[in-house]
Amino acid sequence: MGTQMDFKAVIDGESCAATAGRWIEMLAPATGEPFARVPRGDAADVGRAVVAARRALESDPWAGMPAVERGRILSRLGQLILEQADELAALESRDTGKPLRQGRADIAAAARYFEFYGGAADKVAGETIPVQSGFLAMTLREPHGVVGSIVPWNYPAQIMARVAGAALAMGNTLVMKPAEAACLSVLKIAELALEAGLPAGVWNVVPGYGEEAGAALANHPGLDFLTFTGSPEVGTLIQTAAAKNRIGCTLELGGKSPQILFADADFEAALPVVVNAIVQNCGQTCSAGSRLLVEASAFDRVAEALRQRFRGLVAGPHDRDLDLGPLISADQAQRVAAFVAEAREAGIPLIGEGTIMPDSPPGGFYQPARVFGPVPAEARLAREEVFGPVLAITPFRDEAEAIALANGTDYGLVAGVWSRDGARCLRVARAVRAGQVFVNGYGAGGGVELPFGGVKKSGHGREKGFEALREFSVIKTVVVNHG
Ligand code: NAD
Repeated sequence: MGTQMDFKAVIDGESCAATAGRWIEMLAPATGEPFARVPRGDAADVGRAVVAARRALESDPWAGMPAVERGRILSRLGQLILEQADELAALESRDTGKPLRQGRADIAAAARYFEFYGGAADKVAGETIPVQSGFLAMTLREPHGVVGSIVPWNYPAQIMARVAGAALAMGNTLVMKPAEAACLSVLKIAELALEAGLPAGVWNVVPGYGEEAGAALANHPGLDFLTFTGSPEVGTLIQTAAAKNRIGCTLELGGKSPQILFADADFEAALPVVVNAIVQNCGQTCSAGSRLLVEASAFDRVAEALRQRFRGLVAGPHDRDLDLGPLISADQAQRVAAFVAEAREAGIPLIGEGTIMPDSPPGGFYQPARVFGPVPAEARLAREEVFGPVLAITPFRDEAEAIALANGTDYGLVAGVWSRDGARCLRVARAVRAGQVFVNGYGAGGGVELPFGGVKKSGHGREKGFEALREFSVIKTVVVNHG
């Protein structure tokens, strides 16, 4: 599939290969064939990056740089991303398999994060606190220091940008380990950051395997803070590593996010959103709307409408820009197929199924979109994250049961409520345990401006919006005795 491209790590302002000279072959999900290589970073590379980040943190120009200037650099980076949006979107799409228009949307969102945090960098202020007379007490917001960040493969550009934008705006320095399955846009954008004027060592990116470069980073004693987005299993390892180093960490883990559809809802408005919320990025979205809870009296009507909609969904290569691309890997496609097989063996009805474009490359990692229901609340399909294009529908009798079902998994990331009864929407929105709730709409993760993160086992800490600036900083209290 064309010539193979070599990408580089970015350490201390230099684009470089791994110290040990090893590489990881990147497979295009659309074909299953290698098309690029990234350095296989290890503990030595991570160590160099942490030393560079520490030095950059403690020396000029970064240490003495006014917030407004940090913001200008981030804004310039946003601009550079927009100028190269077509190339970056094509790269993101090929690397992850996502349809081209999703690649475009992700690159636009990445630029938007840098614009947002560029503008916000000089707008985070402390407070003065009234204490006894003769004293002035105030708080200052300071960076944590050297931040370690581990990023997943599903939205490499977006997740990189939401971490880097907020962490750098607050004056931290960063060592980032992107995912081995897809990370090319992250490496490219870290190079663009140097062009935008980011000083050497402020943002280092070390690609590599999770158990190798990722574990070396998470356990490095030179970090002041850790942030992780990915699976619950690895999240536990990250929090354990942070605890051993006695540093803070934020975890953005998975979800089994419900949309609650009452019989009085506007179905014309709701159903396209319900479909998109599970089909977007082939269901590989932590905040995918993977459960639909439907008021029992409307179940048959909704099931029939979804059967027809799913029948029309087509999966195929990313550059054909269809409803779905391939999954990220053979393993992920296998994981989805195993969930589907288990549901069928358990006798859960398959309501509807899409198709795979007939001339899709045979080595690609394709699965059609599927909708199952009624899915018993205790079935694995209703409780566990598939991370693929599989929607589980479960009926409910009344509002109380809808809330109980919505809250009936370990997760709590996002939820949606659909009804024409405004008071009910508010009651349910307040009763559902989730980091974000959408009423008569659903945004997987919502916009750049909206605080995002989980409750329960979906993680802790908030990213996006101004909330992320608080997360990536720490308060110092200063008390002045002025007599
Ligand atoms: P993953 O946890 O396997 O990998 C995420 C990152 O962790 C990768 O960079 C990987 O290399 C690294 N990693 C793996 N093992 C490691 C280890 N032992 N030490 C340190 N780092 C290690 O997850 P994934 O397969 O890339 O992503 C899928 C999962 O991530 C899903 O469960 C999904 O819900 C979740 N996710 C959550 C969010 C969110 O914002 N909440 C966003 C995207 C993905």
